[in-house]
Amino acid sequence: MSEQQSGDPRDARSRGTGASRNGSHDGEARAAEAYDVVVIGGGPVGENAADYAIRGTDRTAALVEAELYGGECSYWACMPSKALLHPLDVVAEAEHLGGIERPVRVSPRELMARRDEWVSRYDDAGQEHWVRSAGITPVRGRGRLAGPRVVEVEGPDGSVRRLEAREAVIVATGSSPAVPEPYRGIAAWGSRDATGVREVPERLALVGGGVVACESARWLSALGSRVTMIVRGDALLGSAEPFAGEAVAESLREQGVTILFGAQARGAEREGADPDAGVGVPHGGPVTLELTGSDGDSSLTVDEVLVATGRRPALDDLGLDAVGLDARDLRGWTHPGGDSPLPEWLYLVGDASGEAPLTHWGKYRARQVGLAVAAAAAGTSARTGRSPKNSCRSAATRSGASAGSRWAVSR
Ligand SMILES: Cc1cc2nc3c(=O)[nH]c(=O)nc-3n(C[C@H](O)[C@H](O)[C@H](O)COP(=O)(O)OP(=O)(O)OC[C@H]3O[C@@H](n4cnc5c(N)ncnc54)[C@H](O)[C@@H]3O)c2cc1C
Repeated sequence: MSEQQSGDPRDARSRGTGASRNGSHDGEARAAEAYDVVVIGGGPVGENAADYAIRGTDRTAALVEAELYGGECSYWACMPSKALLHPLDVVAEAEHLGGIERPVRVSPRELMARRDEWVSRYDDAGQEHWVRSAGITPVRGRGRLAGPRVVEVEGPDGSVRRLEAREAVIVATGSSPAVPEPYRGIAAWGSRDATGVREVPERLALVGGGVVACESARWLSALGSRVTMIVRGDALLGSAEPFAGEAVAESLREQGVTILFGAQARGAEREGADPDAGVGVPHGGPVTLELTGSDGDSSLTVDEVLVATGRRPALDDLGLDAVGLDARDLRGWTHPGGDSPLPEWLYLVGDASGEAPLTHWGKYRARQVGLAVAAAAAGTSARTGRSPKNSCRSAATRSGASAGSRWAVSR
């Protein structure tokens, strides 16, 4: 629908939490709710962008979230992974200290209980409370662009809300795992299963050699899994300094992890593959992998396969075509203006932008995007005095941190 047809939301009289609402299905006219800013994706980056876009003003923002406020980081990535890793570091440290009675051991049950506590038992009530306390309106459901400045949100009950953005729409939808052939048909584990592990596989093949693969190998072997890493290249952490990958490989081997460098699977077979089995439990029967590597061909039978071969921006089914955009042209762009393919009202930030997929980087960029939106709304550029429309493809992408993006792909 064109802006003309929808009416320009910038002219909307209502401020506050929306002009009107109608949860009707197709066929009935849907009245729109107007906000100054609509953010799609309530992860750490979307939360930050919404906050900075309206902080200290009477502007309004809606934050649309399809799963849990707090995003991947809070429930399935940074928080649980570090909750699982820290006690392992403490035990390793204690092994070298005097004054401590031995053995100091990891308890799998206690470790998983600690993880559950750190992820608030997958309950985002605390995060939603923060969203409201920041003056942001939470909108639960899956958001899609339906035209310029217009976002349609399908709620958990199937009802649809139509949101219009007077100033800007910010896309902060994160990233999703990239699963290569031949792992697609076997319901392999992804990083959510690794951080959310409930039943530890006795034998685990772990595909990948990046950060997520190395971290997962560490806690899954500490929990009792016999881990074999299948790494296509000849080093772990390929984009880091070589000594870092060597040190991590040595430490994982000491822990009992087998690392196959220069190896990849030609084929994978599994009986009873069940992608709906649940997070962190077996997704079917044993898996047989046909491997090829520097030592020739071999086969490996395991109880589960964890694929950690990188992530890509989650831009599918986001309605980009409704505003004449193609996800392939947007990688690395965050702001409109200059050569940017983004229209003046649309911003992309965090993992969704294809920049370095790290919470701290995404939140830093979210502050910039939020402030640019705030400055545009106020008619000035907050920091430079220049039009924020002259902001650009990220400096990070143009220079060093594009290595961050490549690093992401290999994670
Ligand atoms: C195992 C693992 C460990 C990690 N550890 C670290 C770490 O220690 N430190 C670090 O800095 N980074 C770490 N990362 C990376 C970090 O998790 C991401 O960079 C960060 O979560 C990105 O934040 P985001 O807000 O862009 O995306 P996300 O956190 O993915 O949030 C995006 C949100 O958007 C929602 N969404 C998506 N599509 C829609 C839609 N159409 N409508 C409504 N909502 C939608 C999703 O449900 C999600 O809540 C780790 C990643 C993994 C996988």
